Amino acid sequence: MNWPRDCKVKLRHPLKDKTTFKIGGRAQFFSEPKDLAQLKCLLGAAKRNKLPVFILGAGSNLLISDRGVKGLVIKLNSAYFKRMALKGNCIEAGSAVRLSQLIFLAQSKSLRGLEFLVGIPGTLGGALAMNAGCRESAIGDLVKEVSVMDYKGRIKILSRKDIKFSYRKSGLGKYIILSALLRLKKGERAQIKKNINSYLGFRRRTQDLSLANAGCIFKNPPQRYAGKLIDLCGLKGRKIGDAFISERHANFILNRGKASAKDVLGLMRLINKKVKDKFKINLQPEIKLWR
Ligand SMILES: Cc1cc2nc3c(=O)[nH]c(=O)nc-3n(C[C@H](O)[C@H](O)[C@H](O)COP(=O)(O)OP(=O)(O)OC[C@H]3O[C@@H](n4cnc5c(N)ncnc54)[C@H](O)[C@@H]3O)c2cc1C
Repeated sequence: MNWPRDCKVKLRHPLKDKTTFKIGGRAQFFSEPKDLAQLKCLLGAAKRNKLPVFILGAGSNLLISDRGVKGLVIKLNSAYFKRMALKGNCIEAGSAVRLSQLIFLAQSKSLRGLEFLVGIPGTLGGALAMNAGCRESAIGDLVKEVSVMDYKGRIKILSRKDIKFSYRKSGLGKYIILSALLRLKKGERAQIKKNINSYLGFRRRTQDLSLANAGCIFKNPPQRYAGKLIDLCGLKGRKIGDAFISERHANFILNRGKASAKDVLGLMRLINKKVKDKFKINLQPEIKLWR
């Protein structure tokens, strides 16, 4: 395989510890480009070698196959993709910036709007790709512009109306997200802090963070909560191998230590079947499956 000389590409690189689920095999090829030029070269090389490309953020919404991933996994992790700048009431940030860092910057500059994202352990890129959010809001609502690269290495600036954001979905799937400009509002720092604490409190009361997990496994169907439906099927506590359905939040699957992707997929199939039999509802996964 001919990789660009200045790009470090690792072979059979373990991915498990790059996800919050702590599950998954190895990447056939893995690279962390240092800037746009390297990213473009890597995409060109992958194309020439007919390799699929996977973009990894903080790995907090992923279930990676036990056999790993055939192709090139790219993690935007260099300082170039972690830049943040203030532009009036907007924050411009690279896709590798953690949501927690964005929230911290906004709070320190008395800018409100991001508080509902507190506690979501992802990057800006992952959050935009997933249109991450909570019951009332999602990150797409704050977007002014997103800078992306297509798989031919061309850069584009998309405005919010060019991107079809919907529930846990964005029209950004065919791009690599590079950075975004988020529009915030002036607020009072004390009130922003209060909002953050209130969102955090809600998460701590409702989610199960006791063991490795990937957040909610299934999307909420219209007007229903997936967690409630799973609970009503009596599935809390059910386990396969080291994976089990949380007693606290039925839409969370926890990894007791050595859970495999096969264990998790087995539980997901069980949930799908029981919910379909009882409620005639086909739950859709919220997590992304890489196989
Ligand atoms: C404890 C916990 C709580 C959570 N709570 C919530 C919640 O309240 N609301 C919510 O919406 N989510 C929640 N999540 C899920 C997850 O944190 C979010 O979806 C997050 O935005 C994913 O970001 P990431 O960087 O981890 O993306 P990853 O998991 O690494 O990737 C997710 C998807 O985004 C793509 N992607 C990542 N970066 C880029 C990029 N730069 N360009 C193009 N595509 C990219 C990946 O290819 C993949 O398809 C939670 C997860 C956990 C573990």
